[in-house]
Amino acid sequence: MSRTEVLSRIDADELVALTRDLVRIPSVVRPGDPSATEAAVAAYVEQWMRREGLEVEVQDVAPGRPNVMGGLGDASAGPTLLLEGHTDVVTEGNPAEWTHPPFGGDVVDGRLYGRGSADMKSGLAAAMIAAAALKRSGVRLGGRLVVGALVDEEGDMIGAKHLCTTPMGRALSAAIICEPEQNELCLEQRGVVWARVTVRGRMAHGAMPEAGINPITALGALLREAPALERRLRRICRRSPHLRPPTVTPTVVLSPAQGVPQSNVIPSAAQATLDVRLTPGPDADAVGKEIDLACQRAMQACPGATVEWQPVNGYRLATRVERTEPLVRAMARAVRQATGRPARFGGVPGSTDGTILRMTLGIPIVTCGPGHRLIPHQVDEHVEVTELVDAAKIYAVSALNFLRG
Ligand SMILES: [Zn+2]
Repeated sequence: MSRTEVLSRIDADELVALTRDLVRIPSVVRPGDPSATEAAVAAYVEQWMRREGLEVEVQDVAPGRPNVMGGLGDASAGPTLLLEGHTDVVTEGNPAEWTHPPFGGDVVDGRLYGRGSADMKSGLAAAMIAAAALKRSGVRLGGRLVVGALVDEEGDMIGAKHLCTTPMGRALSAAIICEPEQNELCLEQRGVVWARVTVRGRMAHGAMPEAGINPITALGALLREAPALERRLRRICRRSPHLRPPTVTPTVVLSPAQGVPQSNVIPSAAQATLDVRLTPGPDADAVGKEIDLACQRAMQACPGATVEWQPVNGYRLATRVERTEPLVRAMARAVRQATGRPARFGGVPGSTDGTILRMTLGIPIVTCGPGHRLIPHQVDEHVEVTELVDAAKIYAVSALNFLRG
């Protein structure tokens, strides 16, 4: 039977070695340093996919920053499923704080350590091994499977945005986002809007405040509006057992907005960023109106100042798919078939490349991958090897179920 045949071709040692190789190629993106991109790890993935006989497409997203896509199966025979991963990782911080070297790929007591071990070179490796197992087994898929290794998920998600503009992106029917979620099936992801608020007043001498309009006063009023904004968003967003309710968190405060700060100068402008997290429900308009209201109230509290905002990087709304979605059914069955355990459901606290795919292409996405949800971006990041192996099996069987021949 094809499932047993495919699962027998998933080799734990090979999967660990592949993950280790990927972790050992640093791919922290350092703006301004053209040698610090995803290029080296992308080249490794490309070569690996070619060796396995996948049909490879390399999409140049930016200089030294390619999406690498590897496909198998026949798109005319059914839907196209994407197993999505990203090749960039966040900074390792201070290597001296790590017990295991950040790019060493140490395996100790059933855990593989390193920056990107969970987020998300393990998920990417599991997807690659799953595709290779399907390819090696010779099974005929009723559709097409694509493994995508995208750039810049930790930045502006230009890899996912680019993919959505390509024929390959537009041909996708559904996607599994292989981010670390303890192999739970996450049908919901929180959304995010970074609201950059600019307050303008009038520059003046600090000794003669009556001659100016102090934007910092209005900025203070805006920060005091944050809890009320959060409460209003909680009213218009749906509650979910798997997601924290909406939050509004000031993360950046800047005054003056430009130029040199001076103790005796009231600046002409100041800026703040609100990190607004959302659960499913409202559209961009409805969210925008609530942020508008917070700005208006801050303006009323400080006559003469103007308070305006714009989203940094657009709106990334919360996403949700229903349990009745064919991809969800295929995956829930796959978890049981591949691991012998019932599927566990969960939710993603932040946004992912899947947010872009869901919002732009309208396709169903499920986020599911190896690694503890809270471990990404920490020192001594690691993944449990058993979870890693389970993920590869879940991906392979999900593809078989979803792309039934
Ligand atoms: Zn990630």
